[in-house]
Amino acid sequence: MPEVIMTGDFTVNPETGLINPARLCPSPNRDARPGVGALELIILHGISLPPGQFGGPEIEAFFLNELDWGAHPYFVEIRGMEVSAHLLIRRDGDLVQFVPFNERAWHAGQSHFRGRSRCNDFSIGIELEGEDETNYNDRQYNVLSAVLKALMVTYPQLTMRELAGHSDVAPGRKSDPGPAFDWLRLYDAVEESREKKD
Ligand SMILES: [Zn+2]
Repeated sequence: MPEVIMTGDFTVNPETGLINPARLCPSPNRDARPGVGALELIILHGISLPPGQFGGPEIEAFFLNELDWGAHPYFVEIRGMEVSAHLLIRRDGDLVQFVPFNERAWHAGQSHFRGRSRCNDFSIGIELEGEDETNYNDRQYNVLSAVLKALMVTYPQLTMRELAGHSDVAPGRKSDPGPAFDWLRLYDAVEESREKKD
């Protein structure tokens, strides 16, 4: 049986586009959503910096354009990239918000979903600290399912059908969150938290 960790409930303020409770870490890598700016998709990602190493400050530094490119050979490959996500769920369950949901974060790159391109325009990006071949942990599934529940309450047009991996919207180019991510477990966790609420 997976360890059960109570994460409590999250709430999303539709005016500010902020989720609570979360650690706010504003990224400059954001701009206005074009057009009507409706949210129609949630994209799940996996990230670790350096790859396969967890717990350090590098992901947050990367999203704030403060990463020391010389600190690790891998960082040369991502030097100068200006990217972000709305949320990051760390291995310890810590939730970090970089961009308000009503603004555009820069996480999907070239991407397609149901015939539309430029998924950043209409999506929320959630990063899980991890890598493709390493199991994500109980805290992350618990926090992620509670976060999804809060998002789907605030933005009712978002359902579990509007949920995709980065690898789904950028096939061949991106592989995260990877085969280690257990989609069925996530679906069960979201269903369970809904049933508890009823
Ligand atoms: Zn990604």
